[in-house]
Amino acid sequence: MSAAASARLILTRLHEVMATRMHAQGKLDRVVDIVGESLDSEVCSIYLLREGMLELFATRGLNKSAVHVTRMAIGEGLTGVIADNIETLNLAEAKAHPDFQYRPETGEDKYHSFAGVPIVYRERAVGVLCVQHVEPRRYEDVEIEALQTTAMVLSELIANAELIDEEQARGLSAEQTGTQTVTGLTLVKGLALGQAVYHQPRITIDQVVADDIEAERQRVYRAFDKMREQIDNMANQAEFGIGGEHEEVIATYKMFAYDEGWSRRINEAIDSGLTAEAAIERVQQRTRMRMREIDDPLLADRMHDMEDLANRLLRIVSGQLGTAAQQGLPRDSILIARNLGPAELLEYDRRRLKGVILEEGSLTSHVVIVARAMGLPVLGRARGIRGIVRDGDEILLDATQATATVRPSQQVSDAFADRFAKSREKQAAYAQLRDVEPFTRCGTRIQVMMNAGLRDDISALAMTGADGVGLFRTEFQFLVSATLPQRERQTRLYRDVIEAAGDKPVIFRTVDIGGDKAVPYLQSEEAEHDENPAMGWRALRLALEREGLLKVQARSLLEAAAGHDLYVMFPMVSEPWEFDAAKHVFEDQLAYMRKNKKLVPDSIRYGAMLEVPALAEVLDLMLPRVNFLSVGTNDLTQFLFAADRANPKLAERYDWLSHSILRFLRRVSQGMVGHDVDLGVCGEMGGRRLEALALLGIGFRRLSITPAAVGPIKELVRKVDIGELSKLMTDLLANPEADIRSELKAWADEHEIETD
Ligand code: PEP
Ligand code: MG
Repeated sequence: MSAAASARLILTRLHEVMATRMHAQGKLDRVVDIVGESLDSEVCSIYLLREGMLELFATRGLNKSAVHVTRMAIGEGLTGVIADNIETLNLAEAKAHPDFQYRPETGEDKYHSFAGVPIVYRERAVGVLCVQHVEPRRYEDVEIEALQTTAMVLSELIANAELIDEEQARGLSAEQTGTQTVTGLTLVKGLALGQAVYHQPRITIDQVVADDIEAERQRVYRAFDKMREQIDNMANQAEFGIGGEHEEVIATYKMFAYDEGWSRRINEAIDSGLTAEAAIERVQQRTRMRMREIDDPLLADRMHDMEDLANRLLRIVSGQLGTAAQQGLPRDSILIARNLGPAELLEYDRRRLKGVILEEGSLTSHVVIVARAMGLPVLGRARGIRGIVRDGDEILLDATQATATVRPSQQVSDAFADRFAKSREKQAAYAQLRDVEPFTRCGTRIQVMMNAGLRDDISALAMTGADGVGLFRTEFQFLVSATLPQRERQTRLYRDVIEAAGDKPVIFRTVDIGGDKAVPYLQSEEAEHDENPAMGWRALRLALEREGLLKVQARSLLEAAAGHDLYVMFPMVSEPWEFDAAKHVFEDQLAYMRKNKKLVPDSIRYGAMLEVPALAEVLDLMLPRVNFLSVGTNDLTQFLFAADRANPKLAERYDWLSHSILRFLRRVSQGMVGHDVDLGVCGEMGGRRLEALALLGIGFRRLSITPAAVGPIKELVRKVDIGELSKLMTDLLANPEADIRSELKAWADEHEIETD
């Protein structure tokens, strides 16, 4: 019998049982028999949530006397783990799993293999369905799918028979009434205040088993057509994008929407007897499962895009149309979602949406890039948020501190409102500094530039009055793209950026991909085996070997800057020859363009990032080669301290205001004296007040920082006297015992310089 036919047989039998007038317990008893027989498993059991515990409700194969006796807490034993993580387990040897717990009353000691799936109701696990087998073997995919289908049927039964406490199913425990604080991960900094709105009004699947398979198939076909039409429309709307990156996002959507494999799997699920909705949901469950197994954050992001589309399809097919975006947002909303697709976020009314909280989400995901462009604070990895928040609850979102306070007390609300008002006042005050040039008290002009990576970021140049873009991270375009960005696309982006910047300079850094910023289309044997990706085959190392990549980028930049001044900077230069080789690629392209009478840039200035400490030791060799140097303190610090910048355990361990870093940087700045080479800092360090003071005090005159820091740093510059600051830093660095941070803070307080 084919897999679909056997799956259909189980469904038909389950359907018959569900249609009888038997009481719920009787139905559960029948279900364990049907599943056990069909999967050829000695044991099949159903656990359901009762009073917060998973209770054995029905079993075939285990001791009947254990029914309604054996109980496990959520998170306890294999069943508890399945319910807790809402995930499927498939184990050839159950006892080998670290969470295995033996319950003598069940008599399960002779069984080796174990597979279990969660029974999900309203996105919460309300039970577990599992099978056990004497022979140690992993269950086949089709068998796991049969279990998942059965679990769906069971959740329908459970809801109708009120087998579980409704309040409990919705999690309306104490957790859902009092004030709660949820912590997560800062994805986009900022404060927001508003009422909770769920992105997706919950879609309920009313019927799991199909009455007419052909009719279900037609429903899915129609839904696919409609979804593809929607995606094509998005792609065609010229005004859709707020930047070129979204074209890439839509390209990814399109790729999935037309993916034959996906529609085929849904079709197969329909063949097994499911309704269209249940089939889509089942395939989606499988996608989620795969997603959990994938460790690569970029691939996982792609899977999120996929899930975004599956949700769209489900809404179309069920007629339960409309996300909160389509239904219209109330004023001041905080959007809550498990995850969100970038296109979905773009559908929201920007005036009403104030912030976003995601249960998942990662820094490199498309949606975060879009949110930043929309100016929305985003809190990610807010685990359990959906179990705590109800529609309409008041939320104070502090994405900067990575927390959200749900149903705050009056006192907390008042304090937050104060902070919020102050931060807005400050923003307004900084905006007034926009046209003020950052001269120090002693009359030194400091260059305050900003970092960017998207076309839209350039609008911040005018808003902040920054002196230019000191670091344009060109790899952003590569990271959000499903395929290698072609030359035309790169040229278009660079040209737009140069034009939007007007007469302000933009320093384009050539791609810094590879290592942990891996892109799937550039996989290589070497990269896959990188054990220390930050020190691995990345940035210029990769670009010089994939010469085509750098060539295309060089050509795009040269073409885009025709008639303008071009600034090019190479990342991770570790030895002078690497700089020479990279420059050579540009010069070759330039010669070719000249020969072919193409328009070329008016001037080209080449620079290197100083982020590998070795380069500082050969500064004398570098200086005659470059027009400018920019210190990347993010990487430099991780290499100086041998401390992975992405490791949260080390995040607070070493201080930028340490003697070692500051001595190092001072040596670099002193080494520049007498050379006609510009020196700047473009790492995060320069955007923090005390750190900026230290940098000014040891000779740095150019800082490129995040746009939000431009106002605060300009304000600071106007309050300092370089002579005083240099003396302070000289004294502090001469005294190895000095606590530079606290001394600088005291100095700043004395000079009424804000430090936060
Ligand atoms: C740095 O390393 O400091 C830097 C500015 O580059 P990135 O953060 O992109 O590595
Ligand atoms: Mg770097």
